[in-house]
Amino acid sequence: MSIRSDLIVGWCPGALRPMKSGDGLIVRVRPRFSRLSLVQLETLGLAAQRFGDGNLYLSNRANVQIRGVSAEEHATLLDVLAVANLIDSDPRIEAVRNIMVSPAVGLSAHAELAAGLVAKLEDALARDEALYQLPGKFGTAVQEGDEIDPASASDVTFLVSQDQIAMVLEGASCRAILFGNTRDATDGFVAVAGAFLRLRRAQPAIRRMRDAVATLGMDAVSKEAGFSQAAHGIRAANRPAPVGDLGGAYGIGFAFGEVAQAALGELTGLMRQDCIAEAALSPHRALVFAVHDREKAALQELSVRIGGITDPNDIRLRVHGCPGSPACLRGTVEARRDAEAVMHALSPATFPKGTIHISGCEKLCAYPHSADITAIGGNGRYTVTGPGPEPRIGVSGAELAAVIAELAGAA
Ligand code: SF4
Repeated sequence: MSIRSDLIVGWCPGALRPMKSGDGLIVRVRPRFSRLSLVQLETLGLAAQRFGDGNLYLSNRANVQIRGVSAEEHATLLDVLAVANLIDSDPRIEAVRNIMVSPAVGLSAHAELAAGLVAKLEDALARDEALYQLPGKFGTAVQEGDEIDPASASDVTFLVSQDQIAMVLEGASCRAILFGNTRDATDGFVAVAGAFLRLRRAQPAIRRMRDAVATLGMDAVSKEAGFSQAAHGIRAANRPAPVGDLGGAYGIGFAFGEVAQAALGELTGLMRQDCIAEAALSPHRALVFAVHDREKAALQELSVRIGGITDPNDIRLRVHGCPGSPACLRGTVEARRDAEAVMHALSPATFPKGTIHISGCEKLCAYPHSADITAIGGNGRYTVTGPGPEPRIGVSGAELAAVIAELAGAA
């Protein structure tokens, strides 16, 4: 495949348009329906060994990244990924095909309806060239049930249930535009995405849907999209991370989303041995397997061996950190190293709930939501905000764990 690499620093990367980083190219694969078959997972593992640093990295948007790819080998890597149906035909389509499906959807009674919706949304995004103008981070999420889970939401979130499909816009999560079938819901998405683009052209400060809703109000955005009014009464419910025993499934989380080469080998080996056909990806940086009790026990044992996370309240799922320097060219602090130190300085007793985000710079790549404590790097130091009115400024990497442990105690 001879697709040119656009090596743009700061680009929201895909596979066809990777991003140049301090350790080579970041190649991000966007699995369809947020699922990977066993063969696709094996292909990604082999590709990471041959072309990357050997590991896979699960993102907070249910994508998978290979890091450390050389520009010379990028085209060959794409050939390998294409054979496993892991890439798109056009980088413009790849850029807008940001559809995140919660693992619970595939396990629910609405799985077929949701699959039909996702297929139509993908088709609309590919066919309507006007939508290629959507910003790279603009995303769509599909959840099941009547309540929205903010941790798995996006610019536009669909709630699929027995009777209806509700479309919720970020920034107005208690309201929704309701549809009776997947065709109307897809047309509704195209209308609201078009409205977002028009509003953005008029006011360039609008970068995401939440900006449009905050600036103009939900009613104005709905009206621009041609909807008379949005219904009230959608409730938000934070669901636990899908790890451990989930009833009809078992989930394993990975600290910072990093699935080491050896761990992936064990995991795919078990999947092959126990005929586990696929894994669903969660934005909590977890893999979820639809399995029965016997396979659950095997996955639990394996998780212990590979250091996987099976407790939804595990502190490793609540501390978020990007690679920072030197892996990322924008970072001026070693955010990953410092986040690991923070993780070790805390315990469930000292930080029983809440989230911490250690970011190499103000781009805040690792966690798209607001955290209870946030440390942002700049000029080699951190500015830390958390409980209390004043941020801590000029905090060094060596001091960060102690400062955060103190703030966590006060949280
Ligand atoms: S937030 Fe981290 S990964 Fe993102 S650009 Fe900044 S330093 Fe790089």
